[in-house]
Amino acid sequence: MSTQTVVHSREHAWRVAASVTDPEVPVLTIEDLGVLRDVKVDGDRAVVTITPTYSGCPAVEAMRDDVILALTAAGYDTVEVRTTLSPAWTTDWMTVAGNRKLTEYGIAPPSGRASVAQGPIRLRMAVKCPRCGSLDTREVAHFGSTSCKALYECRACLEPFDHFKVL
Ligand SMILES: [Zn+2]
Repeated sequence: MSTQTVVHSREHAWRVAASVTDPEVPVLTIEDLGVLRDVKVDGDRAVVTITPTYSGCPAVEAMRDDVILALTAAGYDTVEVRTTLSPAWTTDWMTVAGNRKLTEYGIAPPSGRASVAQGPIRLRMAVKCPRCGSLDTREVAHFGSTSCKALYECRACLEPFDHFKVL
């Protein structure tokens, strides 16, 4: 039995919740994704607020369950996960570390800013191949391995890869 007393604090609960990963892209934590919005702690009770990424992404349910499991294991008796849809999540919330991890994982991170993509003129940014770095790529299918990703093909190294869509 541990003699250490767990200090329940917002920082502690945030760290625990932030360790939960995206079931679809296990290298990304919900903090990397910008999905983790808020953590409140009141004694043994933790309230976590998350904003789901793409609506209809089944990963959200799994993330919610994982947050509850992680905080329960860390000693919180009551864990509540709230989902907030406003403001809506955009790929702009993904952290720099998240973008880097995606590339290392072989997925092209969202290209450009959602705020630009949603403007009156829709800019199509070139998607960089995560393997060789070439910008000579094309979309093969708008829905890749999951609805959140599009399937691309690199004309330089001929490798197919997933591109995390800009939202
Ligand atoms: Zn390539």
